[in-house]
Amino acid sequence: MHRTHTCGELNLNDLGKVVTLAGWVQKSRDLGGMTFIDIRDRYGVTQLLFNMDENAGLCEQARQLSREFVIKVTGSVVERSNKNPKMPTGDIEIRVTSLEVLNEAKLPPFLIEDETDGGDDLRMKFRYLDLRRAPVRNNLILRHKTAQEVRKYLDMQNFLEVETPVLIKSTPEGARDFVVPSRMNPGEFYALPQSPQTFKQLLMVSGFDRYFQIVKCFRDEDLRADRQPEFTQIDCEMAFIEQEDILNTFEGLIRHLFKALKGIELEAVPRMSFEDAMRMYGSDKPDTRFGMLFTELNELVKGHNFPVFDNAELVVGINASGCAHYTRKQLDELTDFVKRPQIGATGLVYCRYNADGSLKSSVDKFYSEDELKKWAAAFNAQPDDLMLIMAGPADKVRKQLNELRLEMGNRLGLRDKNKFSPLWVIDFPLLEWDEETGRYHAMHHPFTSPKPEDIELLDSNPGAVRANAYDLVINGTEVGGGSIRIHNRDLQALMFKHLGFTPEEAQKQFGFLMNAFEYGAPPHGGIAFGFDRLVSIFAGLDSIRDVIAFPKNNSGRDVMIDSPASISEEQLKELSIKTTV
Ligand code: ASP
Repeated sequence: MHRTHTCGELNLNDLGKVVTLAGWVQKSRDLGGMTFIDIRDRYGVTQLLFNMDENAGLCEQARQLSREFVIKVTGSVVERSNKNPKMPTGDIEIRVTSLEVLNEAKLPPFLIEDETDGGDDLRMKFRYLDLRRAPVRNNLILRHKTAQEVRKYLDMQNFLEVETPVLIKSTPEGARDFVVPSRMNPGEFYALPQSPQTFKQLLMVSGFDRYFQIVKCFRDEDLRADRQPEFTQIDCEMAFIEQEDILNTFEGLIRHLFKALKGIELEAVPRMSFEDAMRMYGSDKPDTRFGMLFTELNELVKGHNFPVFDNAELVVGINASGCAHYTRKQLDELTDFVKRPQIGATGLVYCRYNADGSLKSSVDKFYSEDELKKWAAAFNAQPDDLMLIMAGPADKVRKQLNELRLEMGNRLGLRDKNKFSPLWVIDFPLLEWDEETGRYHAMHHPFTSPKPEDIELLDSNPGAVRANAYDLVINGTEVGGGSIRIHNRDLQALMFKHLGFTPEEAQKQFGFLMNAFEYGAPPHGGIAFGFDRLVSIFAGLDSIRDVIAFPKNNSGRDVMIDSPASISEEQLKELSIKTTV
């Protein structure tokens, strides 16, 4: 045994014990006749004491140690005169009697401290060193605990964890596939799963009834802070259930996780229809930590010769409470914000409800103060409030105002990371019109069931058909989503038809699933949670990268192992592949 204890466990109860510790040199300090070294492992840090007067040779040896050397020491636990209440081991130190260097270390390219001087790229290149830092390590510990709690809860609910294959064929979840060439079947490719969707449905046909899997999924799409080409889902499916059963079961999971990991008793998770979410927040994932709901103004503002409002499909605004004092400069900043190409608004109208009760807007030419009073009433505004109003095509302007609302939420400190506001968004549309291809797409995926009462609209008004589909949103982030599935061959075939598949194409790509539906498929449905996202929310982090041991960068590269990389001519030949680059 290289050690009797870890570097995080000794305290005053251990005084006098002779112990052996092993770990990395965190730092060392020479003070007169003494040398102090902090030794670190996964569990914590312990102070080591070397005394020149007691053992000059050993102390001299300790002074040669550099950061990150791997050492093993033996000594006795003594009380510290200068205690450190911030460290669990801060009351004691080890008076070292023997020291062995297990391995030397080069000077690390950045400081292995909670606050490091290493930039992102450098830390990713040397991720194994970055992972030695306590904050990064703690994120992975939290990830592990989350996975254990997920398993505990789902096992208690009778779910079975079943693995599904990774070399499969395309499962459409709205992204591009990663593909893998098949050497044994020249010219043919596997696709990596965007999710195990079809397999978990087949498991329901097999009678497994309650399935889950903590599983890697692969989607080839442009990366953002909360996206990685490979990511992890808590993937779940249940048979003989209705939407209500799924919402209750998985609300239970989320409540269990909040309780176990954060000590928080969540209130019942509220529900909101997609339509209401879009109307009141301009987003299907509203951040409900704060209000600032949309107020629609068409009826009040039209017919006053202000063409921007007169010609707009929708005039809608938010009330930024207590912001009437915003300066010209601040208002210009907000206008610039909404005019940024990413948001693309043409402008922003404001109306100040001054503390003295007077009203002043940027469109005073068209609206008298009496008119503005009506606006204030519609917004439920009080003196000192600032109304911010936008106009345009309804869908577009709602999305733009959503961005402004979130920006105001940030500016006003309303998006507190320690506050958690979960929400079920339900009744999503089944289909979504895609301008680019001039076709309808499945909003969730093609296996989602329309609401039975809306099926008759499929031909006459496809855009109005609602689905039994739901998302779990926490603090404005979509954390999970799922649906009740189609379990009938004819309805599935009809759905493919509406998505623009010929019967032959549908059969070729998804015949296996439609065939299975002919052998006694139970009614079923499910959900998948973004595991990385969930952990990052528990950790209070913005990026999922921080909760992944070895993440990829924005170009989808692993800079540590330098991947993707080219392969040899020989390998290409074996795979019957010619490249054009
Ligand atoms: N497969 C879906 C997804 O990855 C989740 C589900 O419908 O269960 O979003």
